[in-house]
Amino acid sequence: MSGRHVHVIGAGMAGLSAALQLSLSGEKVTIYEAAPFAGGRCRSFLDRELGCRIDNGNHLVLSGNVAVQDYLYLTNALDTMGGSGKPHFPFIDISTGERWTVKMNKGKFPWWIFSKKRRVPGTKLSDYFSGLRVLMAGSLDTLANKFDKQGKIYQRFWEPFIIGALNTETDIASAQLLKGIFVQSFGAGGEACIPLIPKVGLSESFVIPCLNVLRQHDAEIKYYHRLRSMLWEGDQVRALDFNGTLVELGDNDWVILALPAWFMRELLPEVPTPTDFRSIINAHYLVDMPDMEEGFTGVVGGYSEWIFVRNGLASVTISCAERHKDIPVRDMARLVWREVALFLGLDPDKVPQHRIFLEKYATFVATPEQNNRRPTSYTGWKNVALAGEWTATGLPSTIEGAIRSGMKAAQVVMRWGK
Ligand SMILES: Cc1cc2nc3c(=O)[nH]c(=O)nc-3n(C[C@H](O)[C@H](O)[C@H](O)COP(=O)(O)OP(=O)(O)OC[C@H]3O[C@@H](n4cnc5c(N)ncnc54)[C@H](O)[C@@H]3O)c2cc1C
Repeated sequence: MSGRHVHVIGAGMAGLSAALQLSLSGEKVTIYEAAPFAGGRCRSFLDRELGCRIDNGNHLVLSGNVAVQDYLYLTNALDTMGGSGKPHFPFIDISTGERWTVKMNKGKFPWWIFSKKRRVPGTKLSDYFSGLRVLMAGSLDTLANKFDKQGKIYQRFWEPFIIGALNTETDIASAQLLKGIFVQSFGAGGEACIPLIPKVGLSESFVIPCLNVLRQHDAEIKYYHRLRSMLWEGDQVRALDFNGTLVELGDNDWVILALPAWFMRELLPEVPTPTDFRSIINAHYLVDMPDMEEGFTGVVGGYSEWIFVRNGLASVTISCAERHKDIPVRDMARLVWREVALFLGLDPDKVPQHRIFLEKYATFVATPEQNNRRPTSYTGWKNVALAGEWTATGLPSTIEGAIRSGMKAAQVVMRWGK
């Protein structure tokens, strides 16, 4: 134990990951969270209208997300994640009703692309080499000219993958950020591409187990603590101001700011941050199908990107929701239900009880310009480190990126902190 106290601000995945690493290393940690709950953009809650717990948004992670795996291991939560256990990606084309499943093999060598039955219908072997162009990408390259947009491989695989993973329109999306994901997933072989889905909910996998471990290590978490400002002496923070309640810092104490980018701009305008964001819509429908097969499906040719079916709910993700801003919520609920109904074989005109949520600042826009505005965890200040999916993780806004950023911030404290 170093005798110092580390103050982590923000209990999203980045803050929880930083606190976890530090607590497990014997550091004294306090987390301050503005909301009455932890998890930030990755959480579950009881929805009173639907009468069940739902996730704020469907989250897909892959077995190759090593920081996620490490986090789940350290929080004893590996067995809270489910899925088919196979690197298989089912799809439906809503405009034609056609269904197919991309079936990768588990090994590193992708022999699945040689099999017509395993690849996207209507594609040929050479189409799969189009992705290699992404690997050559420089930091200013977008994906605008990287794919033939008329090709089936683009329409049925790359476009849904890019929009789902980057939450950014393909023409402006950063090729380097796609590369960051590609290297950890498809580039690493099928074993790294097994989708992992929380069996119960996001909080049950990513939040509650971590809070349990933190408590076991005497870390404290203070809810309803919204940081307003910090009091400085030279390049060292001396006190934290939570709406007038001051927390004074000792000489060796550290602060990890694990806050969203938009609040960081207010708090410390001199820190470069992404400035442009994209929203995500999540539509949850109660479906009464006792023998419903659980899992997820990619959707092309409609409004939906992904349909997740689990625990009596069909939940739909619509990325880059700005594209649909002119559609009233009521109409959206009806239009999206038609897609879900087609997928599940239900009546398209009988919209069941549902809830639609819009996360306005779901992720930063994954463009080269915004990517170049991301600082590292190390600030150069004497006792401040940064975490958050928006810091320079090499990935777009993801759980993997957020956890990675928290680990990096913890390393800064442990390496530089005296
Ligand atoms: C709908 C949706 C779908 C998504 N889908 C996926 C997906 O499929 N796969 C994937 O990997 N990622 C996905 N993401 C992205 C992922 O959820 C985020 O990248 C990640 O959760 C961000 O974590 P964070 O800790 O960096 O930020 P946040 O989760 O925003 O955490 C910041 C925390 O700081 C708190 N806070 C804010 N201001 C203050 C203050 N002044 N004082 C104290 N506390 C404060 C907030 O309340 C919050 O708890 C999705 C996001 C959304 C919204």
